[in-house]
Amino acid sequence: MNLTPLPAFQDNYLWLLHDGQRALVVDPGDAGPVQAFLAAHALRLDAILVTHHHLDHIGGVATLREATGARVFGPAREKIPEPFAPLAEGDRIEVLGLPFEVFDVPGHTAGHIAYYCEEFKGAPLVFCGDTLFSGGCGRVFEGTPAQMLGSLDKLAALPGTTRVCCTHEYTLGNLKFATAVEPGNTQLIHYQQQCAQRRSQGEPTLPSTMALENSVNPFLRTRQAAVAQAAHQHDAAADPADPVAVFAALRQWKNEFR
Ligand code: ZN
Ligand code: FE
Repeated sequence: MNLTPLPAFQDNYLWLLHDGQRALVVDPGDAGPVQAFLAAHALRLDAILVTHHHLDHIGGVATLREATGARVFGPAREKIPEPFAPLAEGDRIEVLGLPFEVFDVPGHTAGHIAYYCEEFKGAPLVFCGDTLFSGGCGRVFEGTPAQMLGSLDKLAALPGTTRVCCTHEYTLGNLKFATAVEPGNTQLIHYQQQCAQRRSQGEPTLPSTMALENSVNPFLRTRQAAVAQAAHQHDAAADPADPVAVFAALRQWKNEFR
């Protein structure tokens, strides 16, 4: 089994998983890189997993389905190219012999879902779309801060060894913000150096792990005193004892951060 992030557009990753014969792809915003990879490795596309309805995640779905006959799975509460098998919290699917469990993770979009596989080459794996990024999280476009925090908390509770397969290479920008929030977090500083090194060599910073995200990602650390205080200092109206208020202040701060 192989797991590969295919770069697309400016900073998207189309995650492709294959067993040497059959493949699945997550959020193919563009069919081109997927078709090139399938051809180069003589793979048959078995399934397309979609996390949410944004164009950079679904733009290649129809083309790939027509070219390959792949089954399409997607969020029950969102509009994506038909036909697809609609999924929501608690649903289970099997693709390439791997069982995936579906979580509802609303906030970035109203019906956003994530796909969790408990055992893939010795550790769990989660395809979390634009909900959780390394060092950051998606913008709250359709949900509320409380929903988004609930979704991030759900992901944060997964085993620490879980590999976090997010769909954008936003890590360095996120870590620049994270260090502004938590300048005293030594693990964060160390991770930032590692990621800068990887990017300078043209390598992806992903997948990350949930244990690492829980140590460095401010949006998973709203209950840490240093993070809550920083949010309160940025926005005096944000009660540092209220994780939703801390999250909302952090998200707003990040939206304006350069
Ligand atoms: Zn999105
Ligand atoms: Fe996206």
